[in-house]
Amino acid sequence: MAKEDTELRMGRPRSVRFNSLFSEDEFGEDQPSASPASGGSSWSDREPSLHPPAPDAFPGSSPGTLGDSMEDTSATSLLSPTIREGWLDKNPPQGSYIYQRRWVKLDPDYLRYFDSEKDTYSKRLIPVSSISRVSSVGDQKFEVVTNNRNFVFRAENDADRNEWIRTLQQIAEERKGKAAVRTSMSLATDSATEPADKSGFLELRGFKHKLFVVVAGDKVFLYKNAEDYRLGIGITYIEMNVGNVKEVDRRSFDLTTPYRIFSFSADSEHEKEEWVEAMQQSITEALSNSEVAERIWAVDSNRFCADCGSPKPDWASINLCVVICKRCAGEHRGLGPGITKVRSLKMDRKVWTEELIELFQRFGNIMANQFWAANVPPSEAISPTSGSQERRRFLTAKYREGKYRHYHPLFGNQEELDRALCAAVTTSDLAETQALLFCGASVSCDTGDPQCPTPLALAERSGQRLQMEFLLHNKTSEPPRLEMVCSEEKHYSVHLPSITHNGFLYKTPSMVKPISERKGPEEFSRRWCTLQDGVLSYYENDRNTVPNGEIRVEEIVCLVNNPLHAHGIESTFEVYTEADRLYLFGLESPASAREWLKSIAKSFVHPCAEELLALDFERLGRLHYKGGLTLERAQEGWFALVGSTLHICSEDGRRQEPLQLRKLQELSIQGDHEVLVLVERRRTLYIQGERKLDFLGWVHAIQKAASSSGDTLSEQQLTESDVPLLVDRCIDYITQCGLTSEGIYRKSGQNSKTTSLLEALQRDARCVCLKEGEHHVDDVANTLKRFFRDLGDGLFTRRWAPNWLWATALEDEGAKVGEYRQLLAALPPVNRATLKALINHLFRVQCFSGENQMNTHNLAIVFGPTLFQTDGKDYKAGRVVEDLISHYVEIFNVNDQEMKKQQDEITAIMKMREASSSGTQQAGDFICTVYLEEKKTETEQHVKIPATMTAEELTFEILDRRKIVMKEKDYWSCFEVNEREEAERPLHYSEKVLPILHCLGTESYLVVKKQMSMENMLLYLASRVGDCKHGMMKFREERNLLGLGLSTGFHDRYFILNHSWLRLYKEVRSLRQRSPPLESSHKPEKEWPVRNLKVYLGVKKKLRPPTCWGFTVFYENEKHEKQQWYLCCDTQADLREWFATFLQVQNGGALWPSERRRARVARPQQDARLGNISLIPLRGNESEMRNSVAAFATDPLTLLRNV
Ligand SMILES: [Zn+2]
Repeated sequence: MAKEDTELRMGRPRSVRFNSLFSEDEFGEDQPSASPASGGSSWSDREPSLHPPAPDAFPGSSPGTLGDSMEDTSATSLLSPTIREGWLDKNPPQGSYIYQRRWVKLDPDYLRYFDSEKDTYSKRLIPVSSISRVSSVGDQKFEVVTNNRNFVFRAENDADRNEWIRTLQQIAEERKGKAAVRTSMSLATDSATEPADKSGFLELRGFKHKLFVVVAGDKVFLYKNAEDYRLGIGITYIEMNVGNVKEVDRRSFDLTTPYRIFSFSADSEHEKEEWVEAMQQSITEALSNSEVAERIWAVDSNRFCADCGSPKPDWASINLCVVICKRCAGEHRGLGPGITKVRSLKMDRKVWTEELIELFQRFGNIMANQFWAANVPPSEAISPTSGSQERRRFLTAKYREGKYRHYHPLFGNQEELDRALCAAVTTSDLAETQALLFCGASVSCDTGDPQCPTPLALAERSGQRLQMEFLLHNKTSEPPRLEMVCSEEKHYSVHLPSITHNGFLYKTPSMVKPISERKGPEEFSRRWCTLQDGVLSYYENDRNTVPNGEIRVEEIVCLVNNPLHAHGIESTFEVYTEADRLYLFGLESPASAREWLKSIAKSFVHPCAEELLALDFERLGRLHYKGGLTLERAQEGWFALVGSTLHICSEDGRRQEPLQLRKLQELSIQGDHEVLVLVERRRTLYIQGERKLDFLGWVHAIQKAASSSGDTLSEQQLTESDVPLLVDRCIDYITQCGLTSEGIYRKSGQNSKTTSLLEALQRDARCVCLKEGEHHVDDVANTLKRFFRDLGDGLFTRRWAPNWLWATALEDEGAKVGEYRQLLAALPPVNRATLKALINHLFRVQCFSGENQMNTHNLAIVFGPTLFQTDGKDYKAGRVVEDLISHYVEIFNVNDQEMKKQQDEITAIMKMREASSSGTQQAGDFICTVYLEEKKTETEQHVKIPATMTAEELTFEILDRRKIVMKEKDYWSCFEVNEREEAERPLHYSEKVLPILHCLGTESYLVVKKQMSMENMLLYLASRVGDCKHGMMKFREERNLLGLGLSTGFHDRYFILNHSWLRLYKEVRSLRQRSPPLESSHKPEKEWPVRNLKVYLGVKKKLRPPTCWGFTVFYENEKHEKQQWYLCCDTQADLREWFATFLQVQNGGALWPSERRRARVARPQQDARLGNISLIPLRGNESEMRNSVAAFATDPLTLLRNV
């Protein structure tokens, strides 16, 4: 409502009249019944008398008249010629009977109405493209129908009414074109407006409700709400060529125009900044060289797109000499610069020379279309509302194929054409030159005149500047060819920025294989290179006009910045193309090389990913990937590798959180089609290898970036909490297996083992699994010490180490601790996290000093010189470590909860130790969490597992607790579920549970549920003769995770499973024979003893199993070497049969206990003391788990005996 008038700041005295925006008639705020507001309301709808109808004042109510009543002197007034305007009564808003007098204006884009003819900003705008019907409704009234809303106007008399209807119908009809897409009325698809650069809600002073504001091109549109935006029905738009944006306070900013100040408020400071930026850009666009646009638009035919007829086209093809709209420009780009060279009238300042502007004025759309569009069948023409596919089809036909062109009489006769061209360029007949050129005359034909060997030279001699200009821009143009097949299905219909760069570069011949060796300087040749019109061309020298070769930027898929001196030329970079070729360029000057890199990157990176351009990337390119919520469909994304960080922009322009490659949990290659899988804690990314060369490059680079890159802490592979993985692995292992080992960290392990373990961990800690029996605790302890001793820059850093040592001299304990805390805060984050993890560990180690003899002092003696990398003579190093352990809680700010958790762990381990040393052993019980039917908190049961408990007994225990009675054919069983592998294994009823618990990883758990296939398996086994099964299955081996060997995928193999062996045959010849191949005559490719196999149902989806009936099989030999592979069957029945056979073979017959036996099963007695309390649940955090298991593994029968 208008009451806030006083707040308005007017741009200039003339506009003391308050702006019509404030009457908000559509908002229902100015109903006649409403009380009049302040005096400022005199202009409002309520007093129409102030605006007497003055139709006669405007002779311009005839079509085609410019808005001469406007004081608007902006260039845009020229561009929106008012077709008709005048006073009309608009039907009243709801609840009112009084018609509102409105100044109504129609231009080619909008039907708008205003409070008065002097207003600049409308009260309502209706895009012409949204008008579906205009009809008379009697009483001098007519109705403008849009898909969603109708507007009724009343004219002075029938003649006026009929004229309005006629004009509106005509304009709407023209706008619709033949292939009108009536349904697409949103702004985004309406050709009259550009897609939004920014949109959202803003408060606008004077309005009760937030408005939906859209910045699009050089205008800002105001809508009542988002729905109106979708429908295209707006309030008004603000031409930004007269705008000025000013920040007011934290959330507010003013958009000032000569007619009005718009005071906006955003929701946040950040939002405000974005709006200000968007509007400033819009002003820039509106102002940017509008001089060129104006001059070119001065010619009538240039005011509408040469291709679709959209008004105000501000793009051009400088070789075809056509002015085109933004959307057509996008499609022109797709045709490639050999066909059309696209430039902006407003932004590409440099290209617009006087000659070129003149050429456009003299030539322009009308002459171009006389040639190019001489024979367009109406059914093929496009209109402003045409979709991009339609546009592309039309423009391809028009310019690439020359389908509608006016053929030159000499067409087909090359010699004649060339001769005619040589003649034409010496005259002012540009149309003739155009016709000849685009009918096949060669722009570089031999003129036969040694003084003027080219047509260009001839034109020069004749003083034909415009001919020269025209020839120059068509130097590399390809003549249209009808048979030319549009091979590029894929191209960007956005205009990539037009980047120009040139200079000498060193270049090697292009390659189809990765560069494996250093290239010497002699392998490079110096070439003149130009980046222009989306083509990177290289020439023999800077005088040559014909390039030796070209790379189209839209075919570039990846750009690599090599480290300095990677080859014989100081700075080199690589360009990879869609055709899987690699180009190596180099320069002596790193600064110039960087310039080139930046220019090329800018030219080929999609605008949606332009923020990646700001990065100092090593590798930048596009790849297809899956990730997040869109796993079904691979999308194209832009990737930039910077150090160990991978930045990603998805195709919709969303920048994703960068991946920290050193913190990856898994990095592997999967599948037949080469997929790189990156697993982070929160997400998994599948990068697809479409192009071999480029993909291989990415894989190597990512692998390298994901591994340790040096000997300092921050260069290591890290855990989520910033501790080097290597340190984490060692500490974990010692905690599991070495806490009570006498002289831990003091005894030295075997030197050779330490060396090789350290190397393996440094190479890739992700792949190293420390195991009891394989690795001695002293070797691991020594590895950890060696790591710290050799650490680049040391744990305390060279800079700060002296301060730490100095602090030991402080006598006041409090002051000393304070100093340590400050020094700790000064360390880099990774050092700080590592120091904390290590001291925490040592703190725990000294808790066991009774057994391991390593009290704080002893540990300090060992670790002081190690961590400070000194010779051990300086006692101060040891003192620091001793202080850190003693004041661990204070210095590291360990809170009570953290401390209690650690104490509990230690207590449990201590108790277990005591029990084991007391010698009074009992059968110790283990507490374990088991779920009923599915893993949920509600279904968990904590069960004490005695050493003798079988799977069957555990099942009964759980069912009893839940009072579930097992009925006949309810095959309740206990399953081991491996979440990581997405596989599960029903335990055999006689299997002991305890040993399974030992091996259960953190991603596994036990669940009791019905085994649905048991009945069928029993039936199958009962019906079968013998215990052997053979047949085809699809087989896949788990490859070395980081290996780059050939991918395996699933392959058909023949298997034979008998009472002791599973054998694999590659040859399937035997399939055609009736009987299975004789084992003696046919050597298996692989064989495994069935006893050592663990068979799980299910194959993880990541591997893309060919069927859903698969197994995951683990195999471990006597030497504890592990293998993992996958089998898939064609049918469920097949799977059941194989599985039944496995179970039968492995368990010596019975799959299910007989009824009689079942009855005799002794139920374990409930221990009243324990109830449901979980003492040390197996499910829990990882270290709790490991500690428990480790302790248990050391002495399984005594854990918690006395708890
Ligand atoms: Zn167009």
